[in-house]
Order: sequence, then C-alpha cells, then structure tokens
Amino acid sequence: MVKYHYEGYSAGKHTVLLRENFGSSKVYAQNAQSVLNKATGFINAYDFTLNPYRGCQYGCSYCYAAAFSPNSQMRQDWGNWVIIKENATEILKKELHSWYKKNPDRPPSIYMSSVTDPYQPIESKQLLTRYLLQVMVPYQPTLVIQTRSPMITRDVDILQQFQRLRINMSIPTGSEKVRKDFEPKSPSITARLKAMAKLRYSFPYRDNCEFRFSITVTPLLPTLPEDEADFISKLAVVDRVVIQDFHASNGRSLIASTREEALALKQKYAWWYNSEQQSYSNFKNKLMAMLPGVEIMEGKEGFGYE
Ligand code: SF4
Repeated sequence: MVKYHYEGYSAGKHTVLLRENFGSSKVYAQNAQSVLNKATGFINAYDFTLNPYRGCQYGCSYCYAAAFSPNSQMRQDWGNWVIIKENATEILKKELHSWYKKNPDRPPSIYMSSVTDPYQPIESKQLLTRYLLQVMVPYQPTLVIQTRSPMITRDVDILQQFQRLRINMSIPTGSEKVRKDFEPKSPSITARLKAMAKLRYSFPYRDNCEFRFSITVTPLLPTLPEDEADFISKLAVVDRVVIQDFHASNGRSLIASTREEALALKQKYAWWYNSEQQSYSNFKNKLMAMLPGVEIMEGKEGFGYE
C-alpha cells in the first residue's frame, strides 16, 4: 500500500499538499479508489459504508475512527485535519451502476458514514455529501445517514426524494457541560434536537416510502440529574432512541477503540462511571418509562435500518 506524506504532518518530501486551512483544520484532497466499502463489524447488516471524507473536524474525544488515521501524527491530531475524497461522485456512479448490473432487483443498503461525519464543517463549503445524495437518488438505495450536525437540514429537498431513508442524529448527552468536555467542537444539543424536529416534520407521508428518525445516545455519556427529564422528554421527537456504552478497547491500542482523552474525562464524571452499569440501566429505564411511543434499542440492533 502506498504511504502518503501529508504536508504539515511529515518532515520529508510531501506527497499530499495542504489545500487550505478551514477553521482549525488542515484540508487535503485526494482521489479514492472506492467509496462504497463493504460494511463489516458493528454495521455488517448493510451492504456498504460510504464515507465522503477521511478524518473528522469534530474530533470527539471518544471517537474510535481516529484509529484509521493515515499515520500516528494525524491520529494524535484527530479533529484537526480532513481529507476530501475528490473523485467520490464519479466513483459512486460507477459503483452503483456496477451493483445494479449484478443485482438489478435489489437496491443496496448504505450506511453514511461510519468513520467520519458527512456534515462536518467543510461540507458547508464543499457540498460533497449533497452531490453524493444527488447521485444516489436515481438508484434508490436503502440509506441511513449518521451525523451530529444540523447542517443535514440543508439537504431536505434531496432527502425527500429517497424512498427508504433513516436519519440518525448522535446526541450522546443531554448536558451542554458534558458535551463541551467530551466533544467541544460539535454543534449544541439544542441545535441538534431542533434539526431533528425540523426533519421529522419535513417528510409528509407518501405511498411506498419509509422515512425513519433516530437519536443515537451513543456512546452514552453522563447527563446531569438536573437536565435528565427535560432531555428525555425531547427525545420523543423521533421514532427510535439507541443507547450503547463506550466502545471497549480491551487494552488494544491499534484497533478502533475509545481514545485515551475520553477515558481520562471519565474520571471527572466518577459519580456516573464508578457504577457505570447501574447508571446505564437507570438511564435506559427512564427512557422506557418516559417514552412509551418510542422504540428503545441497544447497540448493534439499534443501528440497523429496520
Ligand atoms: S462526529 Fe463521529 S466521526 Fe466525527 S469525531 Fe465525532 S464520533 Fe468521530
């Protein structure tokens, strides 16, 4: 496999030049060999994952995707670089065309995205996710979008053209204070909840169409007692709430796992983490008691389309 040297992350000759700085992030652009990748592990119920970008400007402290950085410096600097898959729309067209030649009667199921956020800040300028959605519409895949960004509401006009769509909004805590500790660069909880409310009411019933909406409270972070009831009541805006605890690292550093930054933050919330299983169960029980009309699911099952 070719090893690339990114300007700003290597002392030697650079093979990938810095394209621009966007906010605090270094932005690169590269061609990808494929954009539809076989879905494995946690989301293996899907045919493919689709990641428009490599890297993620949100840089959440617990993000396991940092393990897939091009090199150790970039892994350390997770959240401060992003690589645009420049040829993604052309490649996607070819890949979808090829799928339908082999499977004319079976639309693929696609999970967008597994190791990046398709609506991270650079998307406001790049519009790559928007263009990819436009490519997908005529092929009508079953599509799940996983994001933590209200920017997704920008694309309602295209999203409405899908027939089988689930939108998952990540909101791992109901407390802004906790969010700012674990994911300081992400949009506010209020903005995300408002976005879901807007989306939910932007998809009128249509024959043969299934639009579904989830909030993924994953990894389940502490919510302060004073915020809990209000947060849970606002989750009623969706038809499914998913909870899951931290991705277990089992001491292995080179695989996808919770980053040390988040593990250190756990100390600050010892009142929750000292009895983590109990905290998890208590929260789950409150979800079930307060949201009788909402499907409460855990872990892998909750990330499926159905
Ligand atoms: S938004 Fe998702 S992909 Fe991006 S850093 Fe956070 S957890 Fe990782």
